[in-house]
Amino acid sequence: MVEDIGENTQSENTADIMVVDDNPANLHLLSTMLRSKGYKIRPVPAGGLALRAAASCPPDLILLDISMPDMDGYEVCERLKADDRLKDIPVIFISALQETFDRVKAFSRGGVDYVTKPFQFEEVEARISTHLRLRRLQRELEHRNEELTDSFQRLKALEEMRAALTDMIVHDMRAPLTAILGYLDLVLADDCGLPDTTRRFLRTAHESSKMLTEMASTLLDVSRMESGEMPLDLRSCDLYALVLECLDSMRVLVEQKSIRPQLDGGVTEIMCDEELIRRVIVNLLHNALKYTPRGGAIQIRVESPEQRGARVSVTDSGCGIPEQFHARIFEKFGQVEARRHGHTYSSGLGLAFCRLAIQAHGGVIGVQSEPGKGSCFWFEIPSQAGRLTVESVPEAGQASSRS
Ligand code: ADP
Repeated sequence: MVEDIGENTQSENTADIMVVDDNPANLHLLSTMLRSKGYKIRPVPAGGLALRAAASCPPDLILLDISMPDMDGYEVCERLKADDRLKDIPVIFISALQETFDRVKAFSRGGVDYVTKPFQFEEVEARISTHLRLRRLQRELEHRNEELTDSFQRLKALEEMRAALTDMIVHDMRAPLTAILGYLDLVLADDCGLPDTTRRFLRTAHESSKMLTEMASTLLDVSRMESGEMPLDLRSCDLYALVLECLDSMRVLVEQKSIRPQLDGGVTEIMCDEELIRRVIVNLLHNALKYTPRGGAIQIRVESPEQRGARVSVTDSGCGIPEQFHARIFEKFGQVEARRHGHTYSSGLGLAFCRLAIQAHGGVIGVQSEPGKGSCFWFEIPSQAGRLTVESVPEAGQASSRS
């Protein structure tokens, strides 16, 4: 908080002021007048001397005569401003009324103000105290800026520690989760006459462990992709065939929803990391199924726009997404308010994973959606997949004109 703007502080009243003038009468007059106001005054009769005195002990403010024989005030000021240690000292020029005083030159050399001889003492003092106050406020701002920078650096370090700790915990969670999954698999596979209710409970436990394991893996992958530590295994792959495989793996879910997904397009070969893109497609299909009511429609299109790169879009007739969430859902843990969908569980990691995976290929991902009408999620991968840098990729969530 910057306080005390309207009043002189103790330190301003006792400020160290250097008065530089070759005229002994002026020097005496100014010094006496300012000392009577409590300032600590250093009278200096020449420009060169003033520079040396300022360098050995920088004053809080300098009153500088323009016309001096050895070095004029403009040059003294210019040299002060060229010295890092002295450049912030406010310089007020002293000029005589009858002198030709070049104000533009005075300000361009770094002067902050000027006073004219014969002096109006109240005016001189008012200008001095104003510039001392401005200098004090400037120092306070610099100090607070440094404090903010320090706090920001500390927060950044803490955030990095937090992220590393989360990764470690999530990583260590995976081993026991895999063991739980494995034992549940074994129990469920063995038809050892378990009562139906127990079997049902075990299946639910199995589903939940699977979900947790997948979530832990996605969280780790998102972290690795964010830090650029996930290398791409680029191979030629037909995205049309990949979508068919993904649909096949989701057959049970599709049948449960009484939805007949429609697949359009044709063979679309592209260089990509097949496993990553498979997970992107599964995520998009899974979401389309999750947010589309029974008997709704899902349409998938795989194409190569203008024979360059590949484009996959998944359009559903689900609940849709309000525009203000279009960018947020691609962020980590970004979700549309849970109440809107009435779904019990959602981690908000799936689309963040998709965005990072597509960006790692130098591609773009986005959505077009209207509440009540449905959504179209799409992504494009350039033919030189992975060549573009992540920085050059436009933000996710933007609408595509070609959708
Ligand atoms: P999760 O993995 O938890 O489903 P996602 O990152 O995949 O999270 O999705 C983020 C949010 O985007 C979801 O919680 C949901 O609100 C919204 N969303 C994603 N896909 C669709 C869709 N096809 N229709 C409606 N809302 C969707």
